[in-house]
Amino acid sequence: MTEGAVDLLELDREALAALVESINQPAYRSRQIWRQIYERGVLDPLQMTDLPTDLRRQLSQASGGPLDDPVQVQTSADGSTSKALIALSDGELIETVLIRSAPRDTVCISSQAGCAMGCVFCATGLQGLRRQLTVGEILRQAILARAWARDEGRDLTNVVFMGMGEPLANYPRLSEAIARLTDPDGFGLSPRRITVSTVGIATNIRRLAIDHPRVNLAVSLHAPDPQLRRELVPVDGASLDEIIDAVRDHGDATGGRVTFEYVLLDGVNDSRAHARRLADRLRGLRAHVNLIPLNPSPGVVGRRPSRRSVLGFQQALQDRNVPVTIRVEQGSDIAAACGQLRGDRVRRSDTGRSDSG
Ligand code: SAH
Ligand code: SF4
Repeated sequence: MTEGAVDLLELDREALAALVESINQPAYRSRQIWRQIYERGVLDPLQMTDLPTDLRRQLSQASGGPLDDPVQVQTSADGSTSKALIALSDGELIETVLIRSAPRDTVCISSQAGCAMGCVFCATGLQGLRRQLTVGEILRQAILARAWARDEGRDLTNVVFMGMGEPLANYPRLSEAIARLTDPDGFGLSPRRITVSTVGIATNIRRLAIDHPRVNLAVSLHAPDPQLRRELVPVDGASLDEIIDAVRDHGDATGGRVTFEYVLLDGVNDSRAHARRLADRLRGLRAHVNLIPLNPSPGVVGRRPSRRSVLGFQQALQDRNVPVTIRVEQGSDIAAACGQLRGDRVRRSDTGRSDSG
């Protein structure tokens, strides 16, 4: 983008209206531009075909023209999953994953470049936090993924914030992005089709319940005991009890059911005894547990548990009437499973930069 340019995706309705006014255009043009961006997914002003040519040119100049396409798109061997590596204007790299799973097509969105939480088994955590993503950088991922789906005659039905970064550590921008995604005159997604996955930032779990009560909440727990949790998620400030309290408040405020994600690491947190203690912890909550067998990747801690131990863990939860599913894996051949993203190019080509943040 050229210097002094404004990325149209960074503008809310008022700011876009102000831009339109500043170039002496009538107010209804701003509604047209909004629909072009959010309904039709047109990010290049020159392609906004229902606008007069001179306005398209003016907008293109003001916005510095279209942003570059993703650096690299990889599709899994079974065609179910595509991963895009996207270069941001300052060279940071993020990943976005489209998961095709009829009748649902889901995009897995990144909320930060890197992540500060340092979960020992997570490839993104290895990088440390590089920076927050802007509202536009978050939204662009959904718009891009929807465009790929539409090109294939499909439609994007679900958005999950399970890519790189901790969404609740970038709260104001996450909240604005959700507002845009659910704007009925814009992207038009039902909040029921959006899921925010968090490591468990208690204050912002409560804020999310107030600001976006119909958005689904998923909390990455990974351990039934405080000490084991601290070993697996070293940087997070909230204790297990604080997280559970916040989830209870969230449920009371929204009437919704929470999903607890639990990454299973062989010999670390995957015994039946762990499962029994987890069931005790969750007693009284409207909860569902999603078991995620670890996807090992270079540089991160942990081994994948055997199928037998995953099923044993599931059974122990079921015996205590905890609803539980095992995550179906897609795209593991291109390391595209949500939560194991790290911007592979950083590792391969940019040796001058530290991976550990
Ligand atoms: N920061 C948020 C969202 C991004 S991570 C969170 O932690 O919830 C999304 C999910 O992927 C989390 O449940 C995370 O624990 C999981 N994940 C991370 N690394 C993984 C790995 N190597 N294998 C399996 N799941 C992983
Ligand atoms: Fe961050 Fe989530 Fe990875 Fe933990 S699992 S380091 S919170 S992205």
